[in-house]
Formats: sequence, C-alpha cells, structure tokens
Amino acid sequence: MKRFSMMVLTALATACVAPPAVAPPAASVAQQVEPLPLAPLSPAMSEVFDGKALRVILCGTSSPLPDPNRAKACTLVVAGEKAYVIDTGPESWEQLARMQVPGARIAGIFITHFHSDHIGDLGEFRMQTMVAGRRQMLPVHGPRGVTNLVAGFNLAYEEDARLRLAHHGAGVVDLANSPLRAAEFGKAFIGNLDAEEVILQDGDLVVTAFEVDHDPIRPAVGYRFDWKGRSVVVSGDTAASANFTANARGADVLVTESLAPNLIGMAQQQMKSAGNERVAKIMADIPDYHISPLDAAKTANEAGVKLLVYSHHIPSAQVNLPPFFAGVAAVRPADQWVIGWDGLRIDLPAGTAEIRQSELLPRSN
Ligand SMILES: [Zn+2]
Ligand SMILES: [Zn+2]
Repeated sequence: MKRFSMMVLTALATACVAPPAVAPPAASVAQQVEPLPLAPLSPAMSEVFDGKALRVILCGTSSPLPDPNRAKACTLVVAGEKAYVIDTGPESWEQLARMQVPGARIAGIFITHFHSDHIGDLGEFRMQTMVAGRRQMLPVHGPRGVTNLVAGFNLAYEEDARLRLAHHGAGVVDLANSPLRAAEFGKAFIGNLDAEEVILQDGDLVVTAFEVDHDPIRPAVGYRFDWKGRSVVVSGDTAASANFTANARGADVLVTESLAPNLIGMAQQQMKSAGNERVAKIMADIPDYHISPLDAAKTANEAGVKLLVYSHHIPSAQVNLPPFFAGVAAVRPADQWVIGWDGLRIDLPAGTAEIRQSELLPRSN
C-alpha cells in the first residue's frame, strides 16, 4: 500500500514538472520567417479573380436537415480580386475546397444571424484560410452577438493553430494573425424592420447590412454588395418584408432563402402520424419566419431584381420536385430564376448588363 502511494506521488510530481506537449511559440521567431508563397490559382480561379467582374458562387444551399449533396448556408461574393463569405454553414468550407477557392483571398466573413446552420464551419474557415496563407486577422462582420461568436471560435481553435505552427513552421502558419476579428455593426438591429447600415467600403465595394424579418430571431440581417454598378443581395433567413424589398431594389442578383410551406406541411403531418411530436412541433413553428418560393418571386418582381437565385432550400431533399416552386412560373419568366446548387457560379462583368451562369461543381439532384 505504502509502495503504491509512493508510485502515485512520484507520477503526480513528474506530471507537474513535465513541460506541455506543445510549448507556446515565441512571436518574434514567427515574424522573422518568410512566408512560403501562396499556391498557384487553378485556371477557373484565375478567371474568377481576374478583377473584371462581381461574381457569386454558391458554397452551401441546404438548410439544417442532412443533404449529402449540399452544405448548409454559404454564399461567396468575389469583388475584383477579393472574396467575401456570407454565412459559414456546416460543410461549406469543403465545397469551397472542392472548387479550389484560394483561402488567402477571403477578405471577410459576414454572418446573417446565429442559427447553427449559418455559423457551424467558422472554425474551419479560421484554420483553412490561415494554412492557405492569410497574413492578417480575418474580420467577421455581424450584428450584436458576433463578438461572443468570434471569441468562442477563437478559443476553440487557438490550440489547433499552435499545433500546426509547431508541426509546419512559421513559413506556413502566421500564428499572430491566425485569429478571427469580430467587426460588430454600430447600429442595433432589434426587429424594427426599417434599419440598414453601410458596414464596409473597400475600394469600389460597398457592403450594406439590412434588417430582415426572422422573428423571433433578433438580430437577423441580409447583405447587399455594390461594386462598379453591379449588385448582389443575399437575404439571410427572412419572411417577406418591406425592408427586404427596399434593399433588394434594382439588384442584378438576389440570392434568397425559401421554404416550401406545402412540403413542410406534409412533413409535419407525417411526423405527427409517426408519433414524432417533437419534430412535428418544429415543422409547425418554422413556416412563418421563412419566405415561400412564390413570395420570394413576388419580392424580386416588386424590387426589379434581374436574376433570382434560390438557395437555403427547406426541405432541400425535395427541391427538385415541382411542388417546391408551386406558382413561381406563373409570376416570373423562366430565365429570371434559378434553383441554386453548391457550385453555381454567376458573373456580372463590370461595365456591362450581362449575367452569365456557369458551374464550378456539377449540378446536384
Ligand atoms: Zn435561421
Ligand atoms: Zn437557416
């Protein structure tokens, strides 16, 4: 017994004086090392970043339920030579990696609201852009709540950055600049549905945040990107509202969420008959804080939007069934709306009125 106690004490003493497995790196050493050059751009990405157009790439078009072909909410906007990400839903980094989007070109992230299907991959964006060669902290723009969000992901991923620095060296990892930086808006978006704010001006790019109606989720915003006379609006999660329509006015592209109330209604009944009251309750709760495909088309018509892009499909597994878009064809011409998929690319060349569609990943079923 006595011998056993001594062994335990010795082991404890050893544990107390043993150095941590990964010692914190000295910042001065990290700064002296030249960064390794950025990876060459793929042919498609050389075109995407040629500085001649405002572009939209969908990197996540699903909603919370699992869909093997789609990541959760994510839209990439390329303005000139920089990329901006609106929402970082789960699996969305993976889609950008499949398209070979260069992480070091991502100059900012914009969060629409704090539901998990819009934020889950934020840590992955922190890590992957760092490894890709990012040399400044990554701004994460958002309304009240973004400071907590960023602090949490920074804390969770801090040790990962240290481990990668220890393994790959300061030529790959710029530890001092690896964190996300919260950029909280000045204005409070509290549910008045009349607020908007210019939150970023970077060269020719102007980004405006506007309040949307995802009630009772407050704050919740959408974003508008204006660059050299071309414009893209991303709705976030929202029901129809006058503020949404006003901020989408005249946009070349509106990327909107949508929920098919007919299909969600059927799912609710099925869940109820199967005795799954919990999911049936959720299905009953969600229609009034999302927009239907038909109402999104009416919003786009009223706002004079040129191309309406459906994303964040609810339920996404049924998005290619005709009932999902019931009524849309009657109010909007077929060449003015598209059912988005992960990898859809839209180009808006400066100095033109052109809207070109192509794909970086094959269209999913
Ligand atoms: Zn939401
Ligand atoms: Zn959502």
